[in-house]
Amino acid sequence: MPAEGLDWLPDDSVLNDDEVVRLVRIGVEQLGIREVRFTGGEPLVRRGLVDIVRRTHDLGVETSLTTNALGLARMAEALAAAGLDRVNVSLDSVRAETFHQITRRDRLKDVVAGLEAAQAAGLGPVKINAVLMRGVNDDQAPELLRWSLERRYELRFIEQMPLDAQHGWSREGMVTADEILMALEAEFVLQPAQEPRGSAPAELFQVGDGPGTVGVIASVTRPFCGDCDRVRLTADGQIRNCLFAREESDLRAALRAGAADEDIAERWVVAMRGKRAGHGIDDPSFLQPDRPMSAIGG
Ligand code: SF4
Repeated sequence: MPAEGLDWLPDDSVLNDDEVVRLVRIGVEQLGIREVRFTGGEPLVRRGLVDIVRRTHDLGVETSLTTNALGLARMAEALAAAGLDRVNVSLDSVRAETFHQITRRDRLKDVVAGLEAAQAAGLGPVKINAVLMRGVNDDQAPELLRWSLERRYELRFIEQMPLDAQHGWSREGMVTADEILMALEAEFVLQPAQEPRGSAPAELFQVGDGPGTVGVIASVTRPFCGDCDRVRLTADGQIRNCLFAREESDLRAALRAGAADEDIAERWVVAMRGKRAGHGIDDPSFLQPDRPMSAIGG
């Protein structure tokens, strides 16, 4: 997020709770969606989140949440009671000063409390998503892993992608999966984990004799687009068939114009047919999407 923040969407452009649940139900009943993840911005600031989770869980799908964990200490139990299965928490450093530098907030303690509450509420395995940035926290990979293993959190490092609001990403500046693994292997013995990866983005490694693992999501240097089975629905009702899609398909307009479930499902299918084979970050014609990560969700 830029220091000055981003503009809020006008209220009436955001799907209301019933609209969110209806679109999720159409995806589940008509398109075979089996897992729903709530992302952001920050999903914990959504009023009505617990109820949306409950109604989604009642559709018989797995539910999870990606969050910065501020406020999770307060909400973890209610979310678990509503049927939430798991959480992923974004945390790039466990050093107070680096955390402050990255987030511009002095709230590391609240994130730690959120992680503990999630684990106590049974929202596990609790996963931590970390992004290493050169000159900021790229020396902290082993420290993050040690900290996570001690607390039985599953740490995953994610290569930084060109989705920042400032358009400041550069391939040279990015810390690669190879560099991350090299830094970890200076202190830990890593073995490729046995379990099949399927369409999961993380390459998993067992740490030492286990049972702890660490994941590396090499979205840029080892893309896994061929196995990607994800679709994103934005808070304002747009379908994005890829994180890097340059076009979106408007389901909100159809919904508010009174379209039947079948019609909305058909529009959704058409939106997915245009999904490209890969993100094309290495292609000279690559263009960063207009929406930054904080407006798409991870
Ligand atoms: S870049 Fe697009 S296609 Fe590739 S894994 Fe991400 S969302 Fe899926």
